[in-house]
Amino acid sequence: MKIRSMIFWATLTLALWLPSPAAAQAQSEALTLRMSRDFGYGGFDNQIEGLFSLRAEGPQTLTRVEFYIDSQLMATVNEPPFRHQFNTNQYPAGEHVFSARGFTTSGEPLQSNQLTRVLLSAEESRQMLVRTVGPILGVTLLISLLIGALSLRVSRKPFDGSYGLLGGAVCPQCQLPYGLHWLAPRLVTRRLQRCPHCGKWAWVGRARPADLAAAESRWRGEDQQAARGDEAAERSRHQIDDSRFDT
Ligand SMILES: [Zn+2]
Repeated sequence: MKIRSMIFWATLTLALWLPSPAAAQAQSEALTLRMSRDFGYGGFDNQIEGLFSLRAEGPQTLTRVEFYIDSQLMATVNEPPFRHQFNTNQYPAGEHVFSARGFTTSGEPLQSNQLTRVLLSAEESRQMLVRTVGPILGVTLLISLLIGALSLRVSRKPFDGSYGLLGGAVCPQCQLPYGLHWLAPRLVTRRLQRCPHCGKWAWVGRARPADLAAAESRWRGEDQQAARGDEAAERSRHQIDDSRFDT
């Protein structure tokens, strides 16, 4: 019991006494340099192109910050916020090291951390964008084309008297039944589908059994009429053919 509490206090004391890694870093780097993108391309492997901002943060006594690209002075900022905006096309393409040097009221110089970036030319950036965004756009386009083609195929399919798993709907235009399809665009309980009988597009939901039964009997009636119509047409065609031989 006694030993255990001793170990506990020893551990706690040690934990409080040892500086955490974050605190250690803050001490050694009194001037912190950050870069952010204002407009342009910031992609993989620290490649950048466009309008970017460098920001330096330091102690309260900071009065002046110099921003550097490699060893070349980019700008001197004499008041907070210590920020410098630049365009990558002002500098030659390729790898560069950014850094900042700060000065406090007592004249003490502070060196910042370094940031390594690869500046791309506008042309390289455009190519990079095409290479990364191009395939994504292509796949998206292909998928939407496939879905479009499939749903068009579904909508062109004539009604054969069966509905499928999602049940049947009744066309608001011609009052004939057709099956709901899982590929059709859905909004809560309704789907946008084309009626295979009259060709009208409508947002339709699953019909009540009674309505569906009524629509089915209407469809059967029209189907028989159509069949009779076909027969009649066939008969008249035969008559025309026959009459040709009569003359
Ligand atoms: Zn219809």
